[in-house]
Amino acid sequence: MPYNLPATRLLMNRLRQVMAEEGETRSRLDKVVRLIASTMVADVCSIYLRLQGGALLLIATEGLKADAVAATRLSVNEGLVGLVARRAEPMAIQDAPRHPSFSYRPETGEDPFHAFLGVPILRGGRVIGVLTVQNRTERAYDDEEIDNLQTIAMVLAEIVDRIDPDALNNGGNEKRERNTASLTGRVFCEGLGYGRAVLHDPVVPAAKFFAADQVTESKRLSEGMEELKASIDRMMALDGAALGEDPRDVMETYRLLAHDPSWAEKLQEGVKSGLSAEASVDRARREHRARLQSARDPYLRERLHDLEDLDNRLLRILGGEEGKPQISEERSVLVARRLGPAELLEYSNTGLRAILMEEAAASSHAAIVARALGIPTLGGIAGLTTRIDQGDWVIVDAEDGTLHIRPDDSLYDAYKGRVSLRSERQAGYEALKDLPARTTDGTEVSLMLNAGLDLDMDMMKQAGADGVGLFRTEFQFLVSESLPKLNDQIDLYKRVLDKADGKPVIFRTVDLGGDKVLPALNLQREENPALGWRSIRFALDHKGLFRRQLRALVRAAGERPLTVMFPMVTVASEFEEARDLLLTEVEWSAKRTGRRPSRVEVGVMLETPALAYGLPELAGKAEFLSVGTNDLMQFFFAADRMTPHVSDRYDLVSPSALRFLKEVSDACKTHGIRMSACGEATGSTLSALCFVALGFTTLSMSAGSIGPVKQMIRSFDLQAFRPDFLAALDAPKQDFRNQVLALAADHGIELSDG
Ligand code: PEP
Ligand code: MG
Repeated sequence: MPYNLPATRLLMNRLRQVMAEEGETRSRLDKVVRLIASTMVADVCSIYLRLQGGALLLIATEGLKADAVAATRLSVNEGLVGLVARRAEPMAIQDAPRHPSFSYRPETGEDPFHAFLGVPILRGGRVIGVLTVQNRTERAYDDEEIDNLQTIAMVLAEIVDRIDPDALNNGGNEKRERNTASLTGRVFCEGLGYGRAVLHDPVVPAAKFFAADQVTESKRLSEGMEELKASIDRMMALDGAALGEDPRDVMETYRLLAHDPSWAEKLQEGVKSGLSAEASVDRARREHRARLQSARDPYLRERLHDLEDLDNRLLRILGGEEGKPQISEERSVLVARRLGPAELLEYSNTGLRAILMEEAAASSHAAIVARALGIPTLGGIAGLTTRIDQGDWVIVDAEDGTLHIRPDDSLYDAYKGRVSLRSERQAGYEALKDLPARTTDGTEVSLMLNAGLDLDMDMMKQAGADGVGLFRTEFQFLVSESLPKLNDQIDLYKRVLDKADGKPVIFRTVDLGGDKVLPALNLQREENPALGWRSIRFALDHKGLFRRQLRALVRAAGERPLTVMFPMVTVASEFEEARDLLLTEVEWSAKRTGRRPSRVEVGVMLETPALAYGLPELAGKAEFLSVGTNDLMQFFFAADRMTPHVSDRYDLVSPSALRFLKEVSDACKTHGIRMSACGEATGSTLSALCFVALGFTTLSMSAGSIGPVKQMIRSFDLQAFRPDFLAALDAPKQDFRNQVLALAADHGIELSDG
């Protein structure tokens, strides 16, 4: 099979013409297969379309019997074509009939052909069809030929994706694979939203597939690659200046990949064959994605992810401003594989209706940012980006964790009903905003806000919060490219105190490590990051960074009261060491500026079970503690909060967890330590009810939960409920959660979840 680049280029040009032509799909496809067969000097060229359920329908052929078109259908597990679709990778076979997967279909007249080359037709990482060429004689197809057929398949994807099998006169009621689908995910921010999908990762439109002039295009690609390498080098230099000790694994891998000549060569080859620079990168990205779908090995997956990230970076550089995702006036839903908190913040003023993320683990900061923005968000949706195309309509049900892709009308109607119900409920909460969270028998509960960004503070008033019960200071670190400077920190803390307008704010010192990884800190990967070098442990071992933060807090407070708490304290001595550093900063600052906070309160987060039994040692030293349910429960139940299979497996509303919290509550009373709770659990009305019943009168939560929790508190008589609740805790039934729910119902308590 003689093969050369000018011929491919010619083919590309002809394909471009065919794609631009109007006209009947079937005749266009016939032209396409004829073109490919003649350019590649093949006896056969066929296209198969993947139907719903995975079967492959022959939709065009040159060389096989014409009658087989729209009639021959291979099941998912049938034949070499099925194998190519399943593996999502090319297969070149010298003598096909001898291959164990070969399946003979007499109606096609396939028997005289020996050599077989099949490549998947991919769109968004999804196999939508298979393109094959066959030759009468036994022969080996070389890498260049395989590569070129893949390029052609990519171009073809645009035509194939629009094919309606019914229009091919097969008479059946076949449906293409791309139709309504429902996927489930984890609710990161509650709410409902619908709109058109906007893909965060760059999309190369079909109109930009071909280059008019290869020389210019090749230069543009080289310049793009240079810019990519330079940007990675710049990032490394920046981070190096910030810390610079350990090997920077991820960035180093990036750099190696970006400098890998085989990657560059492959991209240049694409351009030489007539593709635009963008299309050539897109072709590489499709391959990486398709391989990711089937790769199991974690190392390989990580590398493929890195490669895909690089493809995306390069596409962004090539696309410039134009290549940026466009959030239109229309309703838009952002769809991303992974999303950093800083990237998400860039969308903060665009009026997004919802956010969807594929990865659960890496997105936790993004999830918290999404909550701060109050945008309904689902994460941990396996296969998300391969199932949605740019512009698809989606309904995001971030109440029960379902995503509907290309929904039909009946779903829309049901959804609209839910939206109006939800807005009625919201209006009800709005009306409670200025009323106290007081039980019917007069116990006042402070409902505070969990915050971490400037923009959360605007929610404080809106939600009617009594202050900020947890300000996650590490967010400023997570959303910046390099470590925030002293003045940046002072500015942020000042703004927070200003916006709080005299209401209390509890600043939690940097809680880095664990899932909150900071590229600039360049930490080594750990086997068990949640149990690792994180939080106060990390802060105490990086005194420069820690003291700079304490200084910023003291300076920002000026003469206002300052409240600080330390995360993940395990033993009392960690608290003491941190508190002493803070007090030293107070003195130091007083000497230099002549000002000191009018009052300094120091507390601790209770996140490790060990500290629950160390409270006697904190007596008289820590003024308050705040139960961080997210970490505390992961350690209590030994269930990683970042691993979807186990993170929701155990229930805080269970006898063991609540008895433990009761011990904490009793110990706090004994030792005169004020207590509160923060963490996600406080946002559930049922868990909040349990906390109040256990004696907690300060709860901190995200803005959206304040209304429902306030309504719950205002609906119950604590003195009447508490004895029944404690009795249930002493004599739990097998389904304890339902037992508490029934009890709440008996007492007329208004719960909005459970
Ligand atoms: C917690 O662990 O409950 C907590 C509030 O801290 P974070 O979620 O930031 O770890
Ligand atoms: Mg925590």
